[in-house]
Amino acid sequence: MPTAPVKVPYLDLKAQYHGIKSEIGAAIAHVLESSQFVLGAEVSAFEREFAVYCRTTECIALNSGTSALHLALLAAGIGPGDEVITTPFTFIASVAAIVYTGARPVLVDIDRRSFNLDPAAIESAITARTRAILPVHLYGQSADMDPIADVARRHKLLVIEDAAQAHGAKYKDRTVGSIGDIACFSFYPTKNLGAYGEGGAVTTSNPEYANKIRMLRDWGQDRKYHHVLRGYNYRMEGLQGAILRVKLRYLDRWIEARRSIAQKYSEALAGCGLELPFAMPWARHVFHVYTVRSSSRNDDRDAFQAALAAEGIQTAIHYGTPVHLQPAFADLGYVPGSLPQSEAASREVLSLPIYPELTEGATQEVCRAVKKVLSGRLANA
Ligand SMILES: *Cc1c(COP(=O)(O)O)cnc(C)c1O
Repeated sequence: MPTAPVKVPYLDLKAQYHGIKSEIGAAIAHVLESSQFVLGAEVSAFEREFAVYCRTTECIALNSGTSALHLALLAAGIGPGDEVITTPFTFIASVAAIVYTGARPVLVDIDRRSFNLDPAAIESAITARTRAILPVHLYGQSADMDPIADVARRHKLLVIEDAAQAHGAKYKDRTVGSIGDIACFSFYPTKNLGAYGEGGAVTTSNPEYANKIRMLRDWGQDRKYHHVLRGYNYRMEGLQGAILRVKLRYLDRWIEARRSIAQKYSEALAGCGLELPFAMPWARHVFHVYTVRSSSRNDDRDAFQAALAAEGIQTAIHYGTPVHLQPAFADLGYVPGSLPQSEAASREVLSLPIYPELTEGATQEVCRAVKKVLSGRLANA
């Protein structure tokens, strides 16, 4: 298919920057003047503000979401010989961080409608070695946390949230990041709250975990050059803290913009033959991505994506290979067919453009192209 000029990009980070340019400029200048380039006052202030936002008592700012997962697991005491239950239908970091600790990831299939860990499938995966459940709030929608908490309580397991895609999302009346024992966020630039570089954080209301994570991010020091733990260099940069403070003030507006675009998509595309995102009754979905499902025929999704590209619409696939079938984790021993819902999802999902600055006109352009491509497919069937 010929490459068409892009009419609607999948994402446009520049549009957001241009809306807040002068505030960002002032925040950066302030850090340069203070010369607190690593941690420092801006990072501490961001930690306080993000803890308030998540309704926890503690937030520890780090250099990535991956570091957040790694330190959350270490603070929980997880290591060699332990097992941690998580989903294979996620970004690879959720599973990689478990492997960093020496523990074994045990992958449990997803619920078809929510794309999140299926609580009913967890119990049979628990063994004497299981220490924690790590649900991922995929696409910006909370996992079903009550039944997860229930099975965790009965088996004395910890719950560690991967909230990298779900800043500000809600489960019933609770904010993600405050539901499990510990939670992990990413501020990678494309996330709903994105830094201008790498960034991440852990939130918790357990001061022991928080103190341990504070030491682990800074070489395990309890005071300068006195190392009580074997730590890491996982500190957040001062510039990122200052930038995130500015952006946090806009986050709820941006989430509302995403939710309103998602609603427009769902209204315009209802009945056109695609499966649209299913808003679970308990969720405030923050639509980090808006993902539809194409038909289950193997090549349909890829043909659909190519046809949209020919119409000038950029899309993305989250994720085309579930983690248990990634070559890097072949040694975990999973084979095709072992986690069928995750495998079906990986063949069928397609994410449409979504970002707060996406205009009404661009949203309509995407819907027009989707309908055109689908009606062409019907005509050819
Ligand atoms: C982005 C992401 C991560 C990793 O965050 P980084 O900041 O890129 O290290 C972990 N889990 C999920 C679900 C993510 O989307």
